[in-house]
Amino acid sequence: MIPLAPPAMTVKDTLAAACRRLQDTVLKKRLLAREADLSAAEKKYACFAEQDRLYALAIYERDVEKKTPDRDGAQLKTLYSAGLVGRQDGRRKYDELKARAPLGRCLLCGNGEIGSLDHHLPKEALPLYAICPVNLVPACGKCNQMKGDRIGTTAGQRTLHPYYDRPGQTGRYLFADITGWPVQFRIQARPDWDAEFRARVQYHFDTFQLARRYAEFSVSVVTANQWLHKKIRTEGGIPALTAHLREAAEQHARTHGINAWDTALHFGLAESTWYFHHGVDKAL
Ligand SMILES: [Zn+2]
Repeated sequence: MIPLAPPAMTVKDTLAAACRRLQDTVLKKRLLAREADLSAAEKKYACFAEQDRLYALAIYERDVEKKTPDRDGAQLKTLYSAGLVGRQDGRRKYDELKARAPLGRCLLCGNGEIGSLDHHLPKEALPLYAICPVNLVPACGKCNQMKGDRIGTTAGQRTLHPYYDRPGQTGRYLFADITGWPVQFRIQARPDWDAEFRARVQYHFDTFQLARRYAEFSVSVVTANQWLHKKIRTEGGIPALTAHLREAAEQHARTHGINAWDTALHFGLAESTWYFHHGVDKAL
């Protein structure tokens, strides 16, 4: 996951833009009249998210929606797809939110190319958050599809929210073990994580199948570097290769973050005696 500050854009901005070219003037008036409700919901969302209580909000709102469906629920969901994704003014806001992802990388897996915005809380169950910017996360097509419309049956069964969750605040938690091919990626919980947060980070890792996908991403990176690594080992021995790999890991950490998959891969290579002696000569 790539952490990112919540967007400054508000639901007032997305509502106005998504409604601007709406032909149906009655519907337009009706939706614009919901601005106060949407802004109140947005404030509540940010407040609950900052206190790590978004799950409680999601369950509560889902149950309310089940008992008393929002009178404009269907129109709000359509406003996302037709107004924000589909219409010119809305699309500008949509693209602005997508463009916030550092280096165009998916915030959920940290590698895929941004394809769309993922509703952190699903719009199907919670239409009040359908066009709420803090609920819209730039993601690749695969991650968006893998996550689906789930809310989770326990508080631990939730993917991480890039705008609010900070698993790597105190250091490394993503590791690559390299004692043979393929590379084995795993999560190592930080001492400051409680049981629920441990479950969530692992749930995120499993939901997006990150162990398998990171191993796949690693193939081209390792293959492209093996020739150079062999050359460094021949000329300067294993100490030179270790130093080179550590430097590459630190460079990745500075560019992509300490817990980016490619940073973990380079640290994994730098810490693998198997790679120095065998892996560098062995195709993946
Ligand atoms: Zn992704």
